[in-house]
Amino acid sequence: MISTVRRTFGGLGWPGYPIGCALVALVYFALAGVDGTGALRIVLYCGISASAVPALLLGVRRYRPRWQLPWLLIAASQTVYFFADASFYTAHYLLGITTFPFVADVLYLSHYPLIVAGVLLLIRARAPRRDLPSLIDATVLGVAAALLSWLYLIQPLTSADESTLTTSAYVAYPVLDLALLAVGLRLLLDPGPRPPAFFLLVANLLAFLGADSIYVLQRIDGSYAAGNFLDVLWLAGNIALGAAGLHPTMAAVAQAGPGKDLNLSPLRVTMLAAASLIAPGVLVLENSRVSEGSVNAIAVACAVLFLLTLGRLVVMVSEQRRLAVTDSLTGLHTRRYFEAELPKALARAGRTRTRLAVFIADIDHFKAINDRYGHPVGDRVLLEVSARLRAVVREGDVLARYGGEEFALLATDVAPEDVPAIAERLRNAIAREPVARAERASIAVTTSVGAALADGHQDDPVRIVAAADRALYAAKAEGRDRISVGDRPGSASEHTASLGYLHAVSDLVDRHLSSHSHGRAVGSYARIVCEAMGAAAGTVQDAELAGRLHDVGKIVIPASVLGKPAALDDAEWALLREHPDHGYRLVRAVPDLDDIAEIVRQHHERWDGKGYPLGLRGEEIRLEARIVSVCDAWATMLADRPYRRTLTVDEAVQELRDGSGTQFDPGVVDAFLRLHEAGEIHQLPPLPAVVD
Ligand code: GH3
Ligand code: MG
Ligand code: MG
Repeated sequence: MISTVRRTFGGLGWPGYPIGCALVALVYFALAGVDGTGALRIVLYCGISASAVPALLLGVRRYRPRWQLPWLLIAASQTVYFFADASFYTAHYLLGITTFPFVADVLYLSHYPLIVAGVLLLIRARAPRRDLPSLIDATVLGVAAALLSWLYLIQPLTSADESTLTTSAYVAYPVLDLALLAVGLRLLLDPGPRPPAFFLLVANLLAFLGADSIYVLQRIDGSYAAGNFLDVLWLAGNIALGAAGLHPTMAAVAQAGPGKDLNLSPLRVTMLAAASLIAPGVLVLENSRVSEGSVNAIAVACAVLFLLTLGRLVVMVSEQRRLAVTDSLTGLHTRRYFEAELPKALARAGRTRTRLAVFIADIDHFKAINDRYGHPVGDRVLLEVSARLRAVVREGDVLARYGGEEFALLATDVAPEDVPAIAERLRNAIAREPVARAERASIAVTTSVGAALADGHQDDPVRIVAAADRALYAAKAEGRDRISVGDRPGSASEHTASLGYLHAVSDLVDRHLSSHSHGRAVGSYARIVCEAMGAAAGTVQDAELAGRLHDVGKIVIPASVLGKPAALDDAEWALLREHPDHGYRLVRAVPDLDDIAEIVRQHHERWDGKGYPLGLRGEEIRLEARIVSVCDAWATMLADRPYRRTLTVDEAVQELRDGSGTQFDPGVVDAFLRLHEAGEIHQLPPLPAVVD
């Protein structure tokens, strides 16, 4: 049973469910008035309201929301709702019973507590902290709705000439609808996340509330007929609920989140204004029926006064907000504002694929200025420094007073090569000319500036500020009045960690092959040879690292092939020949090791062009790779490999001579053998005791 349900719904996927249900609903409406289709129509209608239940349960199973109980309560409510539908339509269509209240009404009324509880739990999950503004807003809207409901639904029902039972049943609907509306509004106004599943759930609540209210109105004036247009709303509500359950974002609905700050959004203020105008509006409307002139004037005054109060509140709160994000001394943004903006700016940079940079400027020896001239002069210097910084900052970038005498700049859409220039512009704005402290007296003020560039997608605000801070310390340590540009946030440590891991992989490969540290040997030989050939320091370093890592690609070759004591067959040989390419890809995964990766890829190329994987020849092969190739051959010949015996040193020298000009670069072989004769090529180092 469960697997059938899962196949049907899972196969349909999220958009399949609402589309399928909509088609069923179309058939339901198409059959209206067709004789003999009553039973079929009941099945179609109730099928849709029933389908939301497995859809919700499947969603819970599939997306595993952190809080499952709200969804389970909503599913329980929908189950009751389905039974209510089934009994209502059976009574109406098949049995012709239109008695009110009936079994269906008991069921309909008992679904309310379940759904209200479910939504309340959702609200708790979404806003663990108390959110008073949303609560008040929801109450304002709820009171307006309650007034309308009381005037036009509940009061007419209580005064209708009916039995107590009928009247209470009638009144129960709008009263319970109000309860549902209250929690629905609270959900709609809370600051939690609003993924599509959230709006589908809200759509369900709105559709049911709207349809229920019209239903009661039609019941009052006797115009209700089963199967009228209200079915569209109810069916749409059912489909929206099932779709909310199946939508991939369903788990996010019950997540706590700061979400968007909607408290003062124009939409919310307009909604509050409209809701609050309902009372005086209704007063005018009701009054016009009995025409009492002064009541109108009072209502208008009420409305105007209310709007003015709301306007006053909005202005006051906006001003408070501005003060919270503005530094009182300098008029710059506060650190709080800067820290709130940084994550948003990083997210934007990620979306627009632009770069963002953070600069921290700190006044040098500011304490001495305070000590020498007093705090008021110190304050004047701070004011002047902020004015100068502001003058050289691009419109739209965020300049903040980050600490006592520290300023932070968040610059968006920055090219990496512009970072030093921007930092220098900040530094120069201050150092350019002394700051006046009194008439004809001035103080030379300097700053040190630390900068860090963020990748668009490397969005960790804490790390980028830490990187800028580290750079600032570097600038201070180097003597102040200078700039320092840090690494990308965290990249230095990440780089070190990844490189460390590659070293460990290289050792692991060696462990499979012999009792010597082959990688370490080749690395150190390559360094000596490269140095002896007069290469630049950077090239020497690259040759050493590439030598150290040249075999990391072998980690993907099965140990049975690597350690095979006999000759390899063709397939195994082909597999082994892939290792320079695997090594290339592994090494390239570490940022800034592209050159090393390229050398690793080329270490099995031959001078005569018969090597692999690229078939490069002569000087098309990178020098470092030609060096690694000779050192690799030497270390291999002298090592105890599983597949062949160790050569003597003389035999190895002869092999290099034989291969010079065919397999090896003759220049490299010469250099190597000269170093060997001079005793510079040491014995192979043993494996480290543990893989580090
Ligand atoms: P360094 O070059 O290493 O940055 O030295 P420094 O003296 O500038 O650094 P330190 O952090 O030791 O001193 C900062 C001083 O800034 C200490 C504090 O009293 C002063 N300060 C912080 N806020 C204000 C302010 O609003 N007004 C004034 N006048 N001074 C302030
Ligand atoms: Mg300072
Ligand atoms: Mg400081």
